[in-house]
Amino acid sequence: GQVAFITGGGSGIGFRIAEIFMRHGCRTVIASRNLQRVSEASQKLVAATGQQCLPLSMDVRQPQTIVAAVDEALKEFERIDILVNGAAGNFLCPASALSFNAFRTVIDIDTIGTFNTSKVLFEKYFRDHGGVIVNITATLSYRGQALQVHAGTAKAAIDAMTRHLAVEWGPNNIRVNSLAPGPITGTEGYRRLGGKFAEEGSQFAMIPLQRAGNKTEVAHSTLYLASSLSSYVTGTTLVVDGGSWLTSANNFPALLGIASSSAK
Ligand code: NAP
Repeated sequence: GQVAFITGGGSGIGFRIAEIFMRHGCRTVIASRNLQRVSEASQKLVAATGQQCLPLSMDVRQPQTIVAAVDEALKEFERIDILVNGAAGNFLCPASALSFNAFRTVIDIDTIGTFNTSKVLFEKYFRDHGGVIVNITATLSYRGQALQVHAGTAKAAIDAMTRHLAVEWGPNNIRVNSLAPGPITGTEGYRRLGGKFAEEGSQFAMIPLQRAGNKTEVAHSTLYLASSLSSYVTGTTLVVDGGSWLTSANNFPALLGIASSSAK
């Protein structure tokens, strides 16, 4: 009976989160820039689950588009209980080759986009009704992952934002948590960040659970953070990576090889 607003819900991890939420009786709004992508995704989700799903176009970098999308969602469903901030952009690139603009763009989408969307939801609904925010982050900054200064910095800032907003908005009955996935198969992130190469090079043997994760595993953990099962949990980051960041190599030359092969 609840309603979830999921940015980046038209593809990858965000799509699976929408699907799993809908299978648990939640209606969803899936929002990203490409209306065709979210519209097609919504048709699939409705067909698979029998729940309602509203596809909307918005750019998390442009607050007025978020305001319009949230207004439309509230007109349709009259409530929003859960916000999942999943929209992001990433690629492998050494800091020396990263343009000033590329670094800024990743911060704009990931960090500022998460703030923009959270603030609009707070003002339009959560301040008066309470709510739950789940920010999808990453483990990249924990050990300074090579070729990932842009995304690692952006996601670390979101984890900080999670704690700040959990403190400020707790009295409004709003819980704010981060979920940091490891390498997740069948996603754009996996394709762009060298998942296939890691798989072929047997690098996943280094992960304590000996494998990459899948989208359903991330969605189930998001469901936990979004549901009342985690009603006393706020301001934390749930790492969903099979223990990967604790043991996986931060191999600069290998990653450079992957970056140049995937650019071809
Ligand atoms: P994905 O399919 O590329 O998802 C990214 C989504 O963000 C897309 O649906 C995209 O849709 C949307 N988006 C991008 N820029 C946007 C903007 N300016 N405004 C609104 N929406 C925007 O990637 P994924 O691999 O499933 O990743 C999903 C999340 O998990 C991301 O936050 C990612 O950082 C995180 N993550 C993934 C992995 C992994 O292994 N895949 C690991 C760690 C963390 P449009 O193009 O239509 O805008």
